[in-house]
Amino acid sequence: MKRLLSLLLLSLPALGQAPATPPDALQCEALRHKGDPTARACYQRLTRALDPAVQAEGFWGMGDFRSANDAFRAALKLRDKDPAPRVRWGRMYLDHWQASEAQDLFQEAIHIKEDYAPALLGLALVAGEQFEGQAISFAEKALKADPKAYEAYEIISRVHLEDGNPPKAVEAAHKALDIYPEALDAMAVLGTMDLLNDKGTSSWMTKVLEINPHYGNAYAIAAHFFIINRRYDEGIAQYRKALELDPGLNSARSDMGVNMMRLGLEDEARKQLEQAYTAGYQNPETVNSLRLLDSYKNYDTFRTPTTILRLSKKESALLNPYFQAEFDRALATYEKKYKYKLTRPVQIEAYPNHEDFAVRTLGMPGLGALGVTFGFVVAMDSPSARPPGQWHWASTMWHELSHVYALEMTNHRVPRWFTEGLAVYEETAAAPDWGDRLDPGAINAIKGKKLLPVADLDRGFMHPTYPEQVTVSYFQGGKICSFIAQEWGYDRLIAMLHDFGDKLTTPEVIEKELQMKPEEFDKKFMAWLEPQTQKTVENFDEWRKRVRTLSGLIKDKKWDDAIKEGEAIRDMYTEYVEKGSVYEFLSQAWLAKGDKLKAMAELERYSKIGGRDPQTLKQLSELLLEQGRKKDAAAVLERLNLIYLADEEAHSRLGAISLDLGNAKVAAREYQAVLTLKPTDPAAAHLGLAVAYKMENRINDAREEVISSLEAAPGYKPAQKLLLELSGKE
Ligand SMILES: [Zn+2]
Repeated sequence: MKRLLSLLLLSLPALGQAPATPPDALQCEALRHKGDPTARACYQRLTRALDPAVQAEGFWGMGDFRSANDAFRAALKLRDKDPAPRVRWGRMYLDHWQASEAQDLFQEAIHIKEDYAPALLGLALVAGEQFEGQAISFAEKALKADPKAYEAYEIISRVHLEDGNPPKAVEAAHKALDIYPEALDAMAVLGTMDLLNDKGTSSWMTKVLEINPHYGNAYAIAAHFFIINRRYDEGIAQYRKALELDPGLNSARSDMGVNMMRLGLEDEARKQLEQAYTAGYQNPETVNSLRLLDSYKNYDTFRTPTTILRLSKKESALLNPYFQAEFDRALATYEKKYKYKLTRPVQIEAYPNHEDFAVRTLGMPGLGALGVTFGFVVAMDSPSARPPGQWHWASTMWHELSHVYALEMTNHRVPRWFTEGLAVYEETAAAPDWGDRLDPGAINAIKGKKLLPVADLDRGFMHPTYPEQVTVSYFQGGKICSFIAQEWGYDRLIAMLHDFGDKLTTPEVIEKELQMKPEEFDKKFMAWLEPQTQKTVENFDEWRKRVRTLSGLIKDKKWDDAIKEGEAIRDMYTEYVEKGSVYEFLSQAWLAKGDKLKAMAELERYSKIGGRDPQTLKQLSELLLEQGRKKDAAAVLERLNLIYLADEEAHSRLGAISLDLGNAKVAAREYQAVLTLKPTDPAAAHLGLAVAYKMENRINDAREEVISSLEAAPGYKPAQKLLLELSGKE
């Protein structure tokens, strides 16, 4: 978003309240506004001014941020009680990708003068950059303080367009133009709408270039909107136009590089990012993206005709069989469900270091989350990127792969709420224990009647107004898709997808496929959702209180009381399987009392609903095994594999059970996994693998493994015995 703002500081001397900009600098700005090449000389003159605030403007205009910074510091010393230089300094920081420093300065200015419009405008810009809900309210405050602050309307216009509300965006852009007919960014937003609607060209863009033939930023604004609408190829084309008009627009060059990386165009991405970096544009996105490109040498790439899998060398041997299997299974499933064949292989990248993955999502609105899809490229955390049990990697992979189809099938026209809703729906459709459960955020939103109308649901993703709104919107989108699948059939969801591809809006699609107005749909949806969640919503406060009591009883080892309390509250909120779940407490209490069957029953409930803690799941597999329920124990460990993979004990156990069950393929996969983890007892793992191979009649492979086993432990009797058996099979 930074690129949008760098040139927003243009304003004319005649406008509104006294601007924060010193008059001398306004003259230079007016030249720059027109793209006049003498602007540079104008700024250069300012650097020789006596007033450090004016000097600062000169250095800033020349792109010398360091000297500008020093000059602003001096200006503040001279004019401690003046909000103006503070705001200008803040705007410079915004220009230099340091939003939090900018924010501090704007707030200081407001402490000096409460209704200081330029400072309120600055806060609106910061909020807009960070996709925060208050962007519009700050802009409105700025307009209250100074009704002629046209930039505030430009911000409002942009935010509405980001929220998928073109009519409001048009209205605000025209208000900016009513105040200032040369408001370039307002024109750029209007022009962007033409381009997003596939008009190819726009008279608004022509107008921009008539005023300033080098205003590449107009196309950088358009690019931003193509990107946040996930139309990456077209976004890159807009960046190219921006750079043709203004080759020095390094913010656009950097953003273009970042987005080329997202599409897997790594060579050109590197070229563009390096060019921006060398020119001094060294914001975190540029630096981190270059670093990430360098780190790709530490990754292995596995290819099939339909898939490309990029895994860190540190863990590729462990992850590859599991990732490839789910990757193939998901693509085959979706091809059938969506009745659609992808035209290119899909690439999945799994990052063991969450920070590397985060680089992939920088500058993206909403939750950084666990995975993100850019057309045919999916980037996600690897199972080792987060604490074991915190998330379900296979569910995330299936979620992202659903996006690949939704984007392709609609030529990237699907609205955010629908593609997220469908992806959330698919997680649970793949397996009931996968997807996200009803969480406290969603419970509070239902209770507080904060779910959004379907026609406005995109807003919950783009500009959340409360902290959990993004996750609540995922939940709501998923439930809406469940509702539609249940009431109208799954194929209706696919029909809706095609409608979005035909560029119908959400209200139009709802009317066409469900034969009702969106408002009526909202009512029907709530009437469907409420009974399902009512019990939990009503009991949530009591449950929360009593689960704390329960935790205390467990700590004090008051097992009988704990069991009584646990059984009383367990079904108030059945879906809670996170840390400190009632199921785990109950099982702990039953175990302490020596009732393994009851303990096991609680953990079976926990696992069936979707509990993910590896220790707990291993414990369940052990209890099942003690009861001779080998198949069920194996199923629990298979579940664990989709959650966390670097657990030697779990793989060994599943290997042994699989041998017992005569399932040689799974046993071999599991013992191989053990061996990639540099196990404490490699001899046993090699032997297990040998037995599995023997079962499959792979005698040479089996012999090789026995020999490896004996190399690790020369006197290992079971291996010696198997070697003897195998030599008889020559
Ligand atoms: Zn998603």
